[in-house]
Amino acid sequence: MRVAIFGARSYDRHHLGAANERHGHELVFFDAGLDITTAPLARGAGAVCAFVNDRLDAEVLAALKEHGVGLVALRCAGFNNVDLAAAEALGLPVVRVPAYSPHAVAEFTVGLLLALDRKIHRAWARTREDNFTLDGLVGRNLHGRVVGVVGTGRIGALVAKILKCGFGCKVLAADPQPNAEVESMGVRYVPREELLATAEIVTLHCPLTPGTRHLIDADMLERARPGMVLVNTSRGALVDTPALIEALKSRRLGGVALDVYEQEGDLFFRDLSGEIMEDDVFARLTSFPNVLVTGHQAFLTEEALDAIAETTLASISAAERGEKLEHRLSADLMR
Ligand code: NAD
Repeated sequence: MRVAIFGARSYDRHHLGAANERHGHELVFFDAGLDITTAPLARGAGAVCAFVNDRLDAEVLAALKEHGVGLVALRCAGFNNVDLAAAEALGLPVVRVPAYSPHAVAEFTVGLLLALDRKIHRAWARTREDNFTLDGLVGRNLHGRVVGVVGTGRIGALVAKILKCGFGCKVLAADPQPNAEVESMGVRYVPREELLATAEIVTLHCPLTPGTRHLIDADMLERARPGMVLVNTSRGALVDTPALIEALKSRRLGGVALDVYEQEGDLFFRDLSGEIMEDDVFARLTSFPNVLVTGHQAFLTEEALDAIAETTLASISAAERGEKLEHRLSADLMR
């Protein structure tokens, strides 16, 4: 099948290309992300392959359908950028990669927390300039600290395990569907409000849905334990960024480590180093010494990319054979 791959980076070309030796599709890679202006590039393709910041709203989905596309294959787990109700109404199936390597994201989350808390990124900037002073680099032990994990599915459960069993943290969790394996490690489930008021470190691992949008807002931040460190490697819009900035300015928060940002679609996965930063909120956010931001790279390991490529192409092969799609998304997930 001809597959139009949007927002393709070098690692996508490499891993999808290698996996395709087993599937034999005609892969057409486009640097451009998918939106209403680029949707015509999919003309003649049986499937499109899209990523986290591609725009798959009702208008784009209708355009894809009109151009003859019969399948949308997301090469990611999150699907908040897709209007699933519109896709269902159009009879356009959408598949994703529900689990490729939760270890990739969980390990990165802990790495980001350590880097922020022990100021490793700042130390690296200093030693590159032969400045070996340690003033201002005092951190905190992770051992014994209270960590709150919001969402204990595949990724959150691993983060809880690494922090509890590896570092000896006291771990609390909040999830409407408690995970028995997590509970058996001695992690206590508490209401989200209690978690926020108690935890010294809060890490977010729930999906972005209408119900979780701005889960961390001004009200929640007001109730957070003073000095709380927030880590978000899930989805940017779980956090109200202007409210976060106010909490940082008032010194209420101890630090923030983010791999995702609400308006990342205008910034991430591109080299904007020679450009004027248009996003004032992002510019303010990255101006704080206790904020560390990476550009949505928690998934980016060889193992994860191999798994993503294989699952994505296997779904496309299954669609071509007219088989039932194992990883098809239902519009019910958005409710
Ligand atoms: P998962 O579906 O296995 O787990 C999500 C958990 O969140 C579930 O247990 C669910 O019950 C829980 N949840 C739902 N609503 C909640 C709420 N209001 N409060 C607390 N918990 C709630 O998903 P996963 O594989 O662990 O992935 C989690 C998220 O990580 C994804 O939705 C995606 O947005 C993000 N992600 C980010 C990257 C990255 O590169 N930064 C990569 C993969 C996934």
